[in-house]
Amino acid sequence: MSDQPFLSLRVDDLHKSFGSQQVLKGVSARAHKSDVISIIGSSGSGKSTFLRCINFLETPDRGRIAVNGEEIAMKMGRSGRLQPRSWRQIERLRTGLGMVFQSFNLWAHRTVLENVIEAPVHVMGISRREAVEKAEALLHKVGLFEKRDTYPAFLSGGQQQRAAIARALCVDPAVMLFDEPTSALDPELVGEVLKVIRDLAEEGRTMLIVTHEMRFARDVSNRVLFLHQGRIEEEGPPEQIFGAPVSARCREFTGLRA
Ligand code: ADP
Ligand code: MG
Repeated sequence: MSDQPFLSLRVDDLHKSFGSQQVLKGVSARAHKSDVISIIGSSGSGKSTFLRCINFLETPDRGRIAVNGEEIAMKMGRSGRLQPRSWRQIERLRTGLGMVFQSFNLWAHRTVLENVIEAPVHVMGISRREAVEKAEALLHKVGLFEKRDTYPAFLSGGQQQRAAIARALCVDPAVMLFDEPTSALDPELVGEVLKVIRDLAEEGRTMLIVTHEMRFARDVSNRVLFLHQGRIEEEGPPEQIFGAPVSARCREFTGLRA
């Protein structure tokens, strides 16, 4: 217990299969407060499944997850698979995990501001006035204050993704989880989204970022995990992963020649 409070996220020995395919084969990770951890690896290596297990969009088969020192309680289901002991706990812990997906996932029939205040008002029970105040400050931060009453369809992809980031931030998450936040964007819109994430890193936000933007990962993170076939093949500071990786697979992936 004593080592837990300063850990924003602790994941131990996560396993996940789909049918006979083992997608995660024992992945562990720790994020201390203000850590910015990039997760890289080829397509199909299990990066999205890893993030989705952390906030229980997928139920892991095995392993332990704790958010801000609170461990998710699991029990063995009748099928012989783990299940959360309480979905109420999952709901609560999920509000501590701001998730931003590749596709922006905004509610189409709500304005930008309504999207951002949805969870604070309806899940966390914050007063509408307080939520609006906070949402407006966040929309300022991501450069979308002027668009607060606009519907998502009238925004560019980059603007939609920035709105999705403001929405994830509005519940004050302990950890932000990004799953390839720029890979659905036209190239000219990538920079504006990376800049917002960079600013969050500078503010000391704790973040896990799955990304294919290697230069960004190198600049923004203090640690990088290289996932290969459901295992962490190598992890270390960006100088190591991008400069002098130990693993030949990692070297190959980052384009370095021995
Ligand atoms: P990555 O994000 O690194 O590209 P994913 O975690 O999305 O990898 O996928 C890892 C593997 O798990 C892939 O082979 C994918 O097809 C499989 N997979 C992911 N989600 C599901 C699912 N819901 N059902 C079946 N197979 C899945
Ligand atoms: Mg993925």
